[in-house]
Amino acid sequence: MNKQADSSTENHPVKVGDKTPLWTAPSTEGEIQLADILHTQAVLLIFYPADWSHVCSDELPLLEELVKLAGKLKLKTLAISNDSLFCHRAFAGEIGLQSTVLVSDTRHEISRVYGLPVDQDGFGPRATILIDQAGIVQRIKVEPGREQPRSMQEMEQIIQQVREWNGYPPGLENWQAERRNAMQLRRAQPLAAPARLQLRFWGTRGSIPVSGLAHVRYGGNTSCVSLTSDTGHLFIFDCGSGARELGQHLLETAQTDKEKKGIEGYIVLSHTHWDHIQGFPFFAPVFQPGNRFNILGWSNCSQTLASILAGQMEKIYFPVSLEALPSELNFFSLQFNGAVVDGAKLTGRLLKHPLPSTAYRLELGGKTIVYATDHEPHSLPDLPPASTLGDDVIDPKLVELAANADILIHDAQYSLAELVQKVGWGHNAGEVAVDTAVRAGVKHLVLFHHDPAHNDRAIDTILQSARWRAEALGRQNLKITAASDGMALDL
Ligand SMILES: [Zn+2]
Ligand SMILES: [Zn+2]
Repeated sequence: MNKQADSSTENHPVKVGDKTPLWTAPSTEGEIQLADILHTQAVLLIFYPADWSHVCSDELPLLEELVKLAGKLKLKTLAISNDSLFCHRAFAGEIGLQSTVLVSDTRHEISRVYGLPVDQDGFGPRATILIDQAGIVQRIKVEPGREQPRSMQEMEQIIQQVREWNGYPPGLENWQAERRNAMQLRRAQPLAAPARLQLRFWGTRGSIPVSGLAHVRYGGNTSCVSLTSDTGHLFIFDCGSGARELGQHLLETAQTDKEKKGIEGYIVLSHTHWDHIQGFPFFAPVFQPGNRFNILGWSNCSQTLASILAGQMEKIYFPVSLEALPSELNFFSLQFNGAVVDGAKLTGRLLKHPLPSTAYRLELGGKTIVYATDHEPHSLPDLPPASTLGDDVIDPKLVELAANADILIHDAQYSLAELVQKVGWGHNAGEVAVDTAVRAGVKHLVLFHHDPAHNDRAIDTILQSARWRAEALGRQNLKITAASDGMALDL
């Protein structure tokens, strides 16, 4: 690296509001000259400790996805570590980076010029620096430890900032407004703490609904699970085609309810792939005035949840538009540090999927349910015979989220043999689910998001393999079930 800026920066580390030092360095896109790049765009510097570490392998594709989803931005993302270009190229290929440029800072000179710490093992920091088009440093954030991933919420804020610099109106599609709104339903009376909960599966299939004799036992509707309580709680995880039957059920129960209150609840979306939202236009309670739903989920900064759901209800796809629905619908992009709604603590974590998918932990009435569908392992599992898979395969964020859960609903779309063929498809195998459940100390594991190509017997086999895996780990006491449409679990 040649430093063209004044050499005094090392004694006076760069602060927010300073002009950035101008440096050149080798990258996967040839030599990078910061001065040239800044001419036309803002620059986001993503310092990370090392290629191949699991945090970095997870974080960089997610960041690239966030930037991509934000629309056309005048922004160059440079990811910087002290690895060689050779290593960078192999790493970028392995994790499928397309637009992120990897910069080789072999002697930590770029880190030093910004005053970033290098630890005694020679690893650089995990740090984020945003420089505007005029070359002014607008944000510096150094994570407290190198194993500490960046906050995706902060990354969204950075992207929103760049969108504003690029002239996108800040209120566009109410992205920020969605975040700021209070998430509570305006209930006449707060709900009492429940004594009993029921988890019910209305759709357990992934990708596309299926029907026919080959699927009679497990059912063919796409993802939809409800959690209800004896005191009136209603949480709906995903709105796949199973939501149609759930809607009918809710209307029937409401009719027999003497007080005839409206139906109120939370619709919690893992992500907006079609198999998780396609039942929404057929969810009858939203067609009735007096019913009220808060709809939560992660959305990127260019499209809100509302606009995504409205998209599939445009005239060319569906006769009734989202705006024409007479029920009250409030949309919220979820804060990942969690929220307490109706006395339930809800926490979310983004997991590895082509469109990042959120896993949720819901704690209510002394019980904990974790809904974690649509995610794939960090790397292919090579099952160790008597010990559980490590963080190189299983996302430690999920192990933490599922800690001591009563029920973990986990993606188990594939057999292990299929998983090998489906890297990058965003799904999981029953055996990996078992190791996650064992590491997290879960009581009951529910295998979910069955492959549409699998008949009942194929799902039986996945279930059996999962039970054998639990046995191999000496954990026969882990209860394992394959979810089926109509299945109810009382808690
Ligand atoms: Zn799915
Ligand atoms: Zn998906």
